[in-house]
Amino acid sequence: MDFCSLPKIDLHCHLDGSVRPETIIDLANDQNIELPSQDVEVIRNLMIAPETCVDLKEYLTRFELPLQVMQTKKSLERISYEVFEDAAKENVKYLELRFAPLLHVRNGLTVEQIISSVVKGMKRAELDYDIRGNYILCILRTMPKDDIPQVIEAGAKYIGKGVVAFDLAGAELAGFCHDFVKEAKAARKKGFHVTIHAGEQGNGQNVQDAIELLKAERIGHGIHIIDHSGGFKAVRNGNVGLETCPSSNVQTKAVQDIESHPAKRFYKQGLAVTINTDNRTVSNTTMTQEVQKVCEQFYLSQKDYVAIYLNSVEQSFASDAIKQELRNYIDEL
Ligand SMILES: [Zn+2]
Repeated sequence: MDFCSLPKIDLHCHLDGSVRPETIIDLANDQNIELPSQDVEVIRNLMIAPETCVDLKEYLTRFELPLQVMQTKKSLERISYEVFEDAAKENVKYLELRFAPLLHVRNGLTVEQIISSVVKGMKRAELDYDIRGNYILCILRTMPKDDIPQVIEAGAKYIGKGVVAFDLAGAELAGFCHDFVKEAKAARKKGFHVTIHAGEQGNGQNVQDAIELLKAERIGHGIHIIDHSGGFKAVRNGNVGLETCPSSNVQTKAVQDIESHPAKRFYKQGLAVTINTDNRTVSNTTMTQEVQKVCEQFYLSQKDYVAIYLNSVEQSFASDAIKQELRNYIDEL
């Protein structure tokens, strides 16, 4: 298989984890932000999480550098454009990019300005390249809950116009879903789809809770349903999409190594498995590499890949018209 030319879909990718190191240097110089180095390779190494981190916490420290330069409308627009550009160049046909607007208010931008800037960058890339996209708005579970309604309110204006879903991300404590029932309900009422990071570091019960309490239609990672029958059944019975991110899972020690990743097992069990990057820079990866890794490691055929791609189409929060466009790429194979 020529992995680069295959059409691909990324449903789980973080904006701040996918910034080009060159852009960090450019923007920092523009904004008079002091960097530890002007050398692209040094900056790249500071952004890439080690092959295996101590834990998710160490992995998350890699986001601080990009966040420093992502506090203006111009930088948000540019970075959004560039992530779509990079994805388009490796034949990603549809990208659902996610980010937490509240991480970008340090210099006084409003949540509305922040969302509007990234959507603008995405729309510009859609005009220049053969790629379509949407945004997912994340809330970090450690953020003050009082701030969540303003994200839902501001995002609601962009539903159907570049924003499609609501997500909870960041460090995963057992039972966290119980604390967000009201917020997820408010988001659904405004027309947001729901996807939740769960069962990555935490347990399978979190996955079951995300589906039952928060009505998640997709789960970020979901690895730990492997030893939790309630979580497994909730995913299977609800045809809930699993946003699998193999390289990231090895880095954060959610799995020991790629060989022990449950992606193939879940796929063979008929779950709606999808393959995604999580973070293009922090995880030092691309969709081409993730697809290649999974296909080669688990001896998947092109037919298997097509089935996984079609899972991504069905599980995406795209409009029916875009879903049809995405299916058409398969007919050309
Ligand atoms: Zn993630």
